[in-house]
Amino acid sequence: MTVITNNKFEHLLDLHHLKKTGPRLKVLAMMSAKNTATSQPDLEALMEDVDRVTLYRILNVFEEKGIIHKVFDLNGTANYAICTSNCQEHLHHDEHLHFNCTICNKVYCLNDLSLPAFNLPPGFKADGFTLYASGTCPQCNKK
Ligand SMILES: [Zn+2]
Ligand SMILES: [Zn+2]
Ligand SMILES: [Zn+2]
Repeated sequence: MTVITNNKFEHLLDLHHLKKTGPRLKVLAMMSAKNTATSQPDLEALMEDVDRVTLYRILNVFEEKGIIHKVFDLNGTANYAICTSNCQEHLHHDEHLHFNCTICNKVYCLNDLSLPAFNLPPGFKADGFTLYASGTCPQCNKK
């Protein structure tokens, strides 16, 4: 397989004490090249030379380390996107609005639109918030 060598991603793996493997670098390069999240089926297709178990492990470890975050689209499919907030190990800060296009089904991270602080009723303790907007994306609106 082609190993995309990019110092930025190698540095990122170093930072998280992860071994710099070809598949890991490929996942990072692929995800950061897109302006939308990547769905699990798309990832599997793009990483066809990597077996599924390895791919899931990569996604899990990246999520755990605060490198990528998972969002579910309207169909319940997992999508992954690189974290742009200051996420840390086991502590994500990706509380931005996610936009799911109903035509192309792409999930966009609207990083500039952070979620408001919700005052939960007493007794509720949230681990995270997910807020979606659905409709048509700029790409589909052009057509
Ligand atoms: Zn995150
Ligand atoms: Zn669209
Ligand atoms: Zn996001």
